[in-house]
Amino acid sequence: MSKETEIAWTDSTFNPWWGCQKVGPGCDHCYAESLDKRTGGAHWGPGAERRRTSIKNWNDPIRWNKQADLFFAKHGRRQRVFCASMADVFDNAVNPQWRADLFELIEKTPRLDWLLLTKRIGNVVRMQKEAVSLLPKTETAASSWGPLVWPANVWLGITVVNQEEADRDIPKLLAVPVATRFLSMEPLLGRVSVFSEATGELLHVAQPARADTSFSEIQWVIVGGESGSGARPMHPEWVRNLLRQCAAAKVPFLFKQWGEWRPMQESEIPFKGTNCHLVSDGSHPTIASGTFQMAHQIRSMILDPKYSWQHPVVNMGKKGSGRLLDGVLYDAFPRG
Ligand code: SF4
Repeated sequence: MSKETEIAWTDSTFNPWWGCQKVGPGCDHCYAESLDKRTGGAHWGPGAERRRTSIKNWNDPIRWNKQADLFFAKHGRRQRVFCASMADVFDNAVNPQWRADLFELIEKTPRLDWLLLTKRIGNVVRMQKEAVSLLPKTETAASSWGPLVWPANVWLGITVVNQEEADRDIPKLLAVPVATRFLSMEPLLGRVSVFSEATGELLHVAQPARADTSFSEIQWVIVGGESGSGARPMHPEWVRNLLRQCAAAKVPFLFKQWGEWRPMQESEIPFKGTNCHLVSDGSHPTIASGTFQMAHQIRSMILDPKYSWQHPVVNMGKKGSGRLLDGVLYDAFPRG
């Protein structure tokens, strides 16, 4: 809800409302629900009332838009606003008028880039049309919104955590005629194929097919591991594989974080930390996890090629694990 944010890929966050409902495996350890509970809220789940944020909060993007020259002078690019970290813009339980009000706000702030990230891409076409129909008529006449028309300052993204979600949701994202599309692959829970590693070709097609071919396809991929209590570890090969796919497709790749767990180096074994684990690449079930007493067992496993499908990871916490992949920071964005 604040101007400052710790999220690596945005400058600011804006929450038009709070509250949501879990819809998939990426939601299992939803930090927003935990934060809502910790602050005395009860805005999660079916039937839970969503809470619209204050007028003062809604005025923040107007102010940022007015200060766009200052931002540009300092950073050399437009300000990115992530909407919404404590909700999903395309949640069924939200009053449709709130969404229309948000669209009006986006229209009034053309000097900001709005990053709308959803786990409900199946709702987007219907809700976009509905919100456009609720915009004030005077605005609609000269609007950058229209049925199936999106303002150029909207980047629409979907969360993809496994291959099943990629196959189900990327075709729906491609069907939306928005200028900038992105994938947030966090928490990455398995190996996912989006682009051909050999040719860079996108492996999915728009469904339903899009008549307008003037838009390019996926412009950005963000990858990250899970953080917070109960976080699930990520196999490093899943990340490297996506990096290779993006390189082949010439799509900007941003590695946001390892999350709680990072890969263990062979030189660190026997590890003196508190918790290590073997993460499988998905081709076999994980066969061992535990504390550093297992280090010798882990060492013999990672030195044995027949166990190359699994990798030891250590729980260093989100900050300790960092965001370097094989010593390199991947921090690419689609445009400035
Ligand atoms: S969609 Fe996002 S905010 Fe909603 S429950 Fe899932 S992780 Fe939490």
